Amino acid sequence: MQYQVVSFKFISSIAVCSLLLACANTTRSGVVGINRSQLMLISSAEVDRLSAVSYNEQYQQAKEKHVLVTSGPTYDRLKTISNRLIAQTGVFRDDTRQWNWQLTLINAPILNASCAPGGKITFYTGLIDQLNLTDDEIAAVMGHEIAHALREHGRERLSQAIAQNAVSNIALTATSGYGSAINAANQAAQYILVLPNSRQNESEADAIGLELAARAGYNPQAAISVWQKMIKATQGKSPPEFLSTHPSGETRIEQLTELMPAVEPLYRESPKPSSKH
Ligand SMILES: [Zn+2]
Repeated sequence: MQYQVVSFKFISSIAVCSLLLACANTTRSGVVGINRSQLMLISSAEVDRLSAVSYNEQYQQAKEKHVLVTSGPTYDRLKTISNRLIAQTGVFRDDTRQWNWQLTLINAPILNASCAPGGKITFYTGLIDQLNLTDDEIAAVMGHEIAHALREHGRERLSQAIAQNAVSNIALTATSGYGSAINAANQAAQYILVLPNSRQNESEADAIGLELAARAGYNPQAAISVWQKMIKATQGKSPPEFLSTHPSGETRIEQLTELMPAVEPLYRESPKPSSKH
């Protein structure tokens, strides 16, 4: 029943929002100057609710397989870094204090991390262990992923799919019962969570992530070293989310280098973590 309600609201959102909403800018520009108008045809609340279905499913599966990590040194490192980054998100938008932020750490040899709409962060131990990431580098990746959520890139992708009528079938099948309603949420989640971001979205996440990390007391130069490590580690293999459509290594490093003079003063002035790995 719960899902039926979600889907019904989802459908009405498409109908109402396509008339009422059009272009929005989800964040303030920060010193990195991200200021692009975004097409939004569905509300944040609906996107949060739809993606929460997938996030909770992932959480439950990890729990059942006994790969959910909820304590220990790696978890504590991530918790400290996430708290410090989250504390800086108010620079970009006012509502993040009310977000129900969550951190999930999964013990699996996977080179990936993400932040779903509404502040649901996932990290895999493989990323930290295999690349031997420093705290500064973890902050660079996490800042990047949080920036996708702040910019509501998932909501933007779903809106683009709605605009292209790609999700009209989802809306139709969602009315016909419980199973199809879950299916609708899962299909919507494909657009919100699974399909790759555009290069433009990736560049925005890089810029905002860099500023978040610098303000939180993490060396922004680590954004360059972490991407170099990832490119090296994934050569010849299928790349993780954040490399699949990302600007090529060289372009990305050029863009990050250009932004350093803007964020380095923030880093110098920021309170630093009491200890760093
Ligand atoms: Zn990304």
